[in-house]
Amino acid sequence: MKQPTAKTDILPAALLSLIRTGRCPHAVLLAGGDERSRKKACETAAAALLCENREQAPCGKCKACIKTKAGTHPDISIFTGTEKTHSVGIATIRDSIRSGLYISPNEAQRKVYVLPDADGMTREAQNAFLKTLEEPPAYVSFVLGADSKQKLLSTVLSRCTAFSLGEKTEKEGTERDIAAALAAALARKNEFELINAAAPLQKNRKLIKKTAVYLQTLLRDAAASDANVPTLSGLEREAVQLGTAFNMHQITQLMSVLRDICEYADKNANENLLLCVLTSRLAAVWKAE
Ligand SMILES: [Zn+2]
Repeated sequence: MKQPTAKTDILPAALLSLIRTGRCPHAVLLAGGDERSRKKACETAAAALLCENREQAPCGKCKACIKTKAGTHPDISIFTGTEKTHSVGIATIRDSIRSGLYISPNEAQRKVYVLPDADGMTREAQNAFLKTLEEPPAYVSFVLGADSKQKLLSTVLSRCTAFSLGEKTEKEGTERDIAAALAAALARKNEFELINAAAPLQKNRKLIKKTAVYLQTLLRDAAASDANVPTLSGLEREAVQLGTAFNMHQITQLMSVLRDICEYADKNANENLLLCVLTSRLAAVWKAE
């Protein structure tokens, strides 16, 4: 059965907003995610680019969306690698993409070239593709997918705007980002900042716990920051700041607060309450000085 409307939550919110406001860069790269969802995301982006109801793109209802869904839109060309190797060779780039580039779109305003396995392009294919990426006609868009950005030549990468296909939305941030912001607020002993830094954790028990675990690792790094050992958290600057702001006893107290938070999260404590306890108890550690 066909779905009545298009699923758009597979696309990063920032990309969707650029498309809907007509500001999408001519080449976008969707990196990360699993192979299947990446391919789906690339196709959804292509559909959104050609959708006739731009503000709701992809609406799933217009002629363009219906054709895209059926795989019959003449202005979308999808190039997947071979089933086995996922590699896209130079012949594909030369014969199928570059040769048709200057032929105007059939019925849409633009034409979209989709390469969900762009990281499977051979080196020579990437080099050939580069020329195309540099100065495509104004009506051409490229949507590339890659398991990891690192698999693309830096020259190709620098001509694309990359979006990551993580599990979380960009607004939410990762536990690492939130832990870093919390650490900075802690180091400055600023409760208001601390509450702000914890705001993205609202209504997300899983993320609260993940962040609390991350922050514990960061505090462990802080405790060892004099010893010149590599950090486990990867947040060197924050670790040093925490190590400077707090003595060993306080660091132990901060860690114990975070351990409690993890425990409460496991016991399904109310999320808002968890956040409140987290920020007030962390702040209590420096207030007790
Ligand atoms: Zn549409």
